[in-house]
Amino acid sequence: MSLRAPMLRATARAAARQQSLRSGSAVSATASVAPLRSQQRITPSSSNALSSARSFSSSSARGMAAEFESPFGINSLSKLSEEEEMLREAVQRFAQDVVAPKVEAMEENEKMDPEIIKGLFEQGLMSIETDPELGGAGGSFTAAIIVIEELAKVDPSVSVLCDVHNTLVNTVLRKYASKELQEKYMPKLSADTLGSFCLSEPASGSDAFAMKTSCKKDSNGDWIINGSKMWITNSAEAEFFIVFAQSDPSKGYKGINAFAVEKEHGVEIAKKEKKLGIKASSTCTVNFDEVKIPKENLIGEEGKGYKIAIEILNEGRVGIGAQMVGLAQGAFEKAVRYAHEREQFNKPVATFQGMQFQIAEAATQIEAARALVYNAARLKEEGRPFTKQAAMAKLFSSQVAQSVSGSAIEWCGGYGFTRESGLPKFWSDSKIGAIYEGTSNIQRATIYKLASAELDA
Ligand SMILES: Cc1cc2nc3c(=O)[nH]c(=O)nc-3n(C[C@H](O)[C@H](O)[C@H](O)COP(=O)(O)OP(=O)(O)OC[C@H]3O[C@@H](n4cnc5c(N)ncnc54)[C@H](O)[C@@H]3O)c2cc1C
Repeated sequence: MSLRAPMLRATARAAARQQSLRSGSAVSATASVAPLRSQQRITPSSSNALSSARSFSSSSARGMAAEFESPFGINSLSKLSEEEEMLREAVQRFAQDVVAPKVEAMEENEKMDPEIIKGLFEQGLMSIETDPELGGAGGSFTAAIIVIEELAKVDPSVSVLCDVHNTLVNTVLRKYASKELQEKYMPKLSADTLGSFCLSEPASGSDAFAMKTSCKKDSNGDWIINGSKMWITNSAEAEFFIVFAQSDPSKGYKGINAFAVEKEHGVEIAKKEKKLGIKASSTCTVNFDEVKIPKENLIGEEGKGYKIAIEILNEGRVGIGAQMVGLAQGAFEKAVRYAHEREQFNKPVATFQGMQFQIAEAATQIEAARALVYNAARLKEEGRPFTKQAAMAKLFSSQVAQSVSGSAIEWCGGYGFTRESGLPKFWSDSKIGAIYEGTSNIQRATIYKLASAELDA
């Protein structure tokens, strides 16, 4: 297979390092990746891989891999291109070799292992859609979705760290920031600097635009931010923050601005939440006390922060859908494997029809959720409306994640109830899917509005 196929730098590197992954330890495999980063930038084969990455966004529709070509020009959503399959395999290896051995300790300590963050950066998984000129892989949105899904099969905490950094932080800069801001921050966000997305506040969650955090210009035109953001993912480890603040409450949502903020500008990371699930993912209050931000760090036009937040969360919701699909699949696989091994009445419990019917229902639910997620991702890549489909994908996938991870516990009986099985973690992690990036009711409201509008059209 030629190197044209590996679409992402991560995949190309992973292919090149297969041998070390097979023969060496996970950490040494991760470390061996670093020199490949620079090789990837300069060799002709790497530029092929990267240009392939850019073009594979709608690859299944275009039928890049001959065997996937439909005589009618339309392929199924579940058929990934050769490049996407290779990416999936590369992330699976990373998740199994690097993440899996650390999941239990991270859960106990409620802390992300820094080696995992380092590994994600080294693998190119923290700049999936970023332009190669800015240190990224130049991949598609579906590539990001596949990465998020695969990581969640092993640890939804690692998955959301990667998801927020890619689909929210990088995307805001990529789509809305000036060239200068992109050149200043995106190479760092591709290399080693973790980002957070700061919208929610103590008194404004679902009603996000009722925010109290203020921004005002000083005599030089620089901005001064005051206020507190709450529930901010990645904030304990982040050095960079996308921050939304209100410059004029009388203008309502049209007074909201988005800023590129460095921790060094004076951001204070306060209380770290103790949570029901995704415990290794940090969730903190973030305070701004007279934090001065250079005027160039305003993202997009003044007063257009609301538009950035709305548009970005539509994309982000597909990412959370992918996280929930991965979680459900991870719990499913663990439990079904156990059910094939565990014997009662002299037979594996998976041979009982009562079990098989439940397993079949769960497999169907996961398949349906994945189709919704991939459909929303492909629509977005094609530049078509996808807000309703993104809301449906998130709503449904979070329901499936909860129900499948709950059933998975039952399929494993007493063992499923022990933390050692890993299943209670999936179950508690699943709950967040119905809350962040818009609660399930907020998704329902969006779906209702758009579905009703279609009837009127
Ligand atoms: C672990 C975690 C990580 C998070 N990470 C981030 C982050 O990185 N960045 C960030 O900005 N935020 C983050 N959040 C915040 C998250 O997005 C909010 O918690 C979420 O939007 C809900 O807001 P809320 O908690 O204020 O709930 P509320 O808005 O108070 O909602 C309470 C209940 O009321 C319902 N409700 C509210 N309004 C309506 C309505 N109009 N119709 C019907 N029902 C309604 C809700 O569905 C919910 O059931 C995170 C939260 C958590 C728990």
